[in-house]
Amino acid sequence: MNIKSAKFIKGIVKPDVSLENDLLQIAFIGRSNAGKSSVINSLAGDKKLARTSNSPGRTQQINLFLINDSFYLLDLPGYGYAKAPEKIKELLKNIIYGYLFESQYVQKKVVLIIDSRIGPTKLDLEMIDLLEQHKKNIVVVANKVDKIKSSVYQKRIKNIREKIGKHTLIPYSAEKKTGTEELWSEIS
Ligand code: GDP
Repeated sequence: MNIKSAKFIKGIVKPDVSLENDLLQIAFIGRSNAGKSSVINSLAGDKKLARTSNSPGRTQQINLFLINDSFYLLDLPGYGYAKAPEKIKELLKNIIYGYLFESQYVQKKVVLIIDSRIGPTKLDLEMIDLLEQHKKNIVVVANKVDKIKSSVYQKRIKNIREKIGKHTLIPYSAEKKTGTEELWSEIS
């Protein structure tokens, strides 16, 4: 994928005029700290595009990035940050569900980022289930594979594959930029 431009457009919390056009939407979701922002940055080839952080649960809006003036990558808030206050969890859930399940927007793909060291959590599997119910087109990205020991790599990936069912799985490292071409070809 040849990236000519990658721009942050705005953060939104509800349906927005920026999305009322023909541009394709690719949504990134996942547990807080799984590496959504890092994956977006690695795809766009710009380390500073989406904000990355060591403190989970900080993105409380949907960040819209316009790539090559032709389609959007949407960085949704992370879910499952246990330490977040209930009010915040509820707010984030409303933003995520509002966009994915209650709006009229259609996503070309929904990219679910999981931490490959942990595998899909209960919340990730529930999210896959909901996405399936809403007939979304899902790609699962197993991020942070650079952290997996090579001796257990195959077993770990096989294990994740078994849990996520029929969906495409891409072993990925935002850090080492492993899997970027494969992910681009899935979503573009
Ligand atoms: P988000 O909350 O899902 O957007 O996660 P971030 O992109 O902010 O990343 C959370 C933390 O994981 C940060 O400290 C990143 O540097 C780290 N991280 C993200 N991707 C990778 C990866 O592929 N490998 C490694 N080793 N660390 C990563």
